Amino acid sequence: MPPTAEFRCTDDDCPLDMLEAHYTYDMPDDVGVDDFECPYCGGATLDAIEV
Ligand SMILES: [Zn+2]
Repeated sequence: MPPTAEFRCTDDDCPLDMLEAHYTYDMPDDVGVDDFECPYCGGATLDAIEV
């Protein structure tokens, strides 16, 4: 299975609780939380949630 990653927006005012990213096998190994931004508020301040 391709990996999935879960992120949380660090903006206290943002109502988005959590988002889950589903990668394909083509996703480079060095992609991480810094490569994503919040799809709701656009803030580039996400924390990775360890699952
Ligand atoms: Zn946000």
